[in-house]
Amino acid sequence: MKILNFVLPLIFLCLKLCESKPKIQNALMYLSQYGYLEPNAMGNSSLVNAKTFKKSLKEFQSFAGIPRTGKLDKLTLEVMSSPRCGIGDKVGTPGRTKRYVTQGSKWRSKSLTYKITKYTNSLGREEVDKAIQDAFNLWSKYTDLTFERSDRGKIDIRFEERNHGDNSAFDGPGGVLAHAYFPQFGGATHFDDSEPWIIGAGSGINLYQVAAHEFGHALGLSHSQVNAALMAPFYKRQWNNDLDRDDITGIQKLYGGKGGGTDPAPPPEPAPPEEPAPPQEPAPRPRIPGFPGFPGFPGFPVFPGFPRTPRFFPGFPRHYPGFPIHRRVFRVNF
Ligand SMILES: [Zn+2]
Ligand SMILES: [Zn+2]
Repeated sequence: MKILNFVLPLIFLCLKLCESKPKIQNALMYLSQYGYLEPNAMGNSSLVNAKTFKKSLKEFQSFAGIPRTGKLDKLTLEVMSSPRCGIGDKVGTPGRTKRYVTQGSKWRSKSLTYKITKYTNSLGREEVDKAIQDAFNLWSKYTDLTFERSDRGKIDIRFEERNHGDNSAFDGPGGVLAHAYFPQFGGATHFDDSEPWIIGAGSGINLYQVAAHEFGHALGLSHSQVNAALMAPFYKRQWNNDLDRDDITGIQKLYGGKGGGTDPAPPPEPAPPEEPAPPQEPAPRPRIPGFPGFPGFPGFPVFPGFPRTPRFFPGFPRHYPGFPIHRRVFRVNF
């Protein structure tokens, strides 16, 4: 009986450890994928100690607007498993206050064109055409930007599955829903064709909402920490079909307000109280995940003739692989 008293808790502890290991591995992958953990110089492995893990987890929890416990609690795991955009959360230079973030590039012209070069089989073409135009129109509503569909359109829109040639493979149903390229990389927008796309409300993924979010990236916005913002990274089960004040302020910062004014159309955003930066967590260096050390291009100038294949970095690929690199190997050193 004495032996049992000793062995049983040991078995329980072993079971708990075995159970939590995949959770930790998945969390490490997630944190790395969305820019909360720096990969090492090799880009394919990283030794993460418990302190770094906790710090990254707190950063993520802060971004997601959930309690900063620094633990893989139920709510954190829930948020990590919810459908979201594939772009990292740390692109651009976030301020100390929760608000929109601009990536650093923008379009020179306000009259933009797009083309849809690969449709999904799960929706009618007319339905997709309308949802895409409506999503663009949402950004036109608060700016002088116009979007016209054309066979030679600049912004290329495609429905793709799994590996689709840009080093940013989709992950099947759930998880990543879509990703888009920032203006300096051409604004191309890809939707994961494994998702149950729907038009309007219902059970499935609302194409209009996801497209409007991705076009925010294609126009130069990064992820916002404001939960209500369309540019928050997570899919909204409840959405009012409109931009949030935070999105409007962000897009007008880049392109001005409706009617050519620079004054935002909505009432001025009340200045949120400054949140003191946690001393133990210095602001992360702006970077694009998957490109170790690659800067987020703060204040990147707009070149005439964008978009084009960037030529100013030797060896820069045609499709920039600035999206998550999957299958990194991690070891946690507790
Ligand atoms: Zn996004
Ligand atoms: Zn893609």
